Amino acid sequence: MKFHRKQKIKRFYKKSIWPSIILFLVFLGSCTGMVLTCMFTFQAYLINTKIADMHEDARNLGRMVDQHTQENNETIFEAVSFIQAYLEEDKDICITDADDQVLKYYGKTMPDFGRAENVQLINPYQLIPDLNMAGGERQLLLTFPELFWRSIEALKKSSYEDNQWMDEPLFHTYYWVEVPIRMQDYHLYYRGSMTIVQKNIFFMNVAILAQLVCLGVPTIFLFWNVLSSIAMQKRLVNQLYQDPVTEGNNWCHFIEQSRKILKKSKNANHTYAVVNLHMLRFQDYCACNGSKEGDALLKKIDGYLRVNMDRGETCARFSKADFGLLLHCRSVELCEKRLKKLLVELTGVKKDKMMSFSAGIYLLRPAANRKERRRRQIDLNQVYHFASAARSSIRGKEGEHIKIFDQQILQEQLWKHKVEERMEAALAAGEFQMYLQPKFHPVTEKIVGAEALVRWISPEDGMIPPGRFIPIFEENGFITKLDDYMISEVAKLQSEWKINGRKQVPISVNVSRVNFVKADLAEHICRLVDGYGAEHAGIELELTESAFLGNKNMLQKILQELKMCGFCLSMDDFGAGYSSLNSLKDLPIDVLKLDMDFFRGDGSKERGEIVVKETIRLAKSLHMKIVAEGIEKKEQVEFLAEQGCDMIQGYYFARPMPVSEFNERAERDV
Ligand code: C2E
Ligand code: CA
Ligand code: CA
Repeated sequence: MKFHRKQKIKRFYKKSIWPSIILFLVFLGSCTGMVLTCMFTFQAYLINTKIADMHEDARNLGRMVDQHTQENNETIFEAVSFIQAYLEEDKDICITDADDQVLKYYGKTMPDFGRAENVQLINPYQLIPDLNMAGGERQLLLTFPELFWRSIEALKKSSYEDNQWMDEPLFHTYYWVEVPIRMQDYHLYYRGSMTIVQKNIFFMNVAILAQLVCLGVPTIFLFWNVLSSIAMQKRLVNQLYQDPVTEGNNWCHFIEQSRKILKKSKNANHTYAVVNLHMLRFQDYCACNGSKEGDALLKKIDGYLRVNMDRGETCARFSKADFGLLLHCRSVELCEKRLKKLLVELTGVKKDKMMSFSAGIYLLRPAANRKERRRRQIDLNQVYHFASAARSSIRGKEGEHIKIFDQQILQEQLWKHKVEERMEAALAAGEFQMYLQPKFHPVTEKIVGAEALVRWISPEDGMIPPGRFIPIFEENGFITKLDDYMISEVAKLQSEWKINGRKQVPISVNVSRVNFVKADLAEHICRLVDGYGAEHAGIELELTESAFLGNKNMLQKILQELKMCGFCLSMDDFGAGYSSLNSLKDLPIDVLKLDMDFFRGDGSKERGEIVVKETIRLAKSLHMKIVAEGIEKKEQVEFLAEQGCDMIQGYYFARPMPVSEFNERAERDV
């Protein structure tokens, strides 16, 4: 418990600016207190001195009266009358009997014995409110600031030439003091006066002014510093936690806030959903409306999400059009229902634009296993990554917009992790092998070419088909290394065939679109091929259609260079996905590979044949060669032969095979 409190205090110190403000105010207060104490101490000292003077006057007067009455045998009245004649005009004297009944007074005033304090002033700190006897001031002890102010005022009024300004009275008062005399039957009172002049307090004023300056300047400086550091801290916090695009929370804030929320969760049945919410085709939206509009849209989405968060929930933009949400769910069904509603509402966030969203969910029960949780903090980035893997798994599935992370996705994630962990070592160990699938002439049925296809022969998992690792390599970039390896293998084989005097057929090799960000791709491929002394014309580079969707100018430049180098270029999977007929017009393509989907499906056979026929005609008119892929039936071969298709690649003739097998088959073919 003690530890807990200590931690809290520590956090308070760390997080809040208030302790420094409070400390600063305490410092300021104690400094002001010190100055005020100095002022009042001085004032008390000054008045004490004046009172002491007055008492001294009274004692002197007493001594004189005693002298006159004892030595000259005068009555007290005679003695006082004699002495009073020599006193200053305003120094009144009063004689009373032992009961303070006034017997006689000399001067203009007499004391009011109803108020003892008017008679005897002992304590200078005591404020005497009504000492208004003979033109005296109402208060004996003024507050020092008033005295200080009077001094300044007097300084302003006085002229300095006459040198009298130092004697300028600032405060003047009278009061009665009992005079000590030896005669027991009488009491003698003396009205003294007290005047504070400029010179009494002038040097103190200067000292106080100096103190004020010494205290004031650093105070202003400190205050300014505190204010600017508060402003700076605010700015830093904003920068640390604000998303630059949406101006809402950023990822840092999301992680911190989510951690707090999950930590607070005590109920073992409380379920939270970490959601990856993604806007589909955001890139296209920006391409159509500009990036400024894109940013404005993200801001709107973020604002909408924030408004829809309940207490104990949070959201933030992760990157591009991806948002992270932490939702509190009563049940999985309710969570899905809420998210579905949210996705529908989000499609209308911009009235004139149609948008669609998808979401992946990872469910958490932070309080379900507290001991485990204490040992190992929830890695929210990892959890979000799982949610986003769940969302990615619905890619391309019509009508499905929400997916909860499950065992299957977990298996895929584990596989991905394993592949990424092993890929480099596998390449170095030669686990990737080149298989060749022959391409046949539809009429002569002889081998006229081949496509190089990779196979991962893993000692642990056996033969792994490319579909299980190529997408992972395309995502993490390793595909460029694998493609380099395959190009080198093709070049090596071509030069071996040449050296061994075998029949040489062109071999096509797949070049992933990831490679087309390299401006020097042509030069790079030339270097790889030339390393084995292979002829460029014997190598065909296959590009999938998705490669044609990127920066067209750059692609055109790279393809022109590859063409100049003497490589043959082919467009793979033509007809699948987004067909870009424009690419056929603009890019120097030599070979068109008809996608195998042309020969699949339940659609009308006749219509399919018309499309293939016309595509072949189009390719011929553009002086391109045509390869039909995925041919499995004899009638397909016959139809394609009729249409003048140049090459056929498919299981009807041969499956992809190891190079040794291909060599044997090619020899038999001759
Ligand atoms: P792809 O380039 O379209 O290759 C043709 C795929 O169709 C091959 O699959 C091949 O085995 C298969 N195929 C050929 N004829 C038939 C048929 O009659 N019926 C059926 N059902 N399938 C047929 P594979 O070898 O599994 O390769 C799959 C994809 O992996 C390839 O599609 C290619 O995109 C990619 N890939 C393979 N090797 C490489 C490589 O070295 N680099 C790159 N970047 N991608 C590669
Ligand atoms: Ca291919
Ligand atoms: Ca293909």
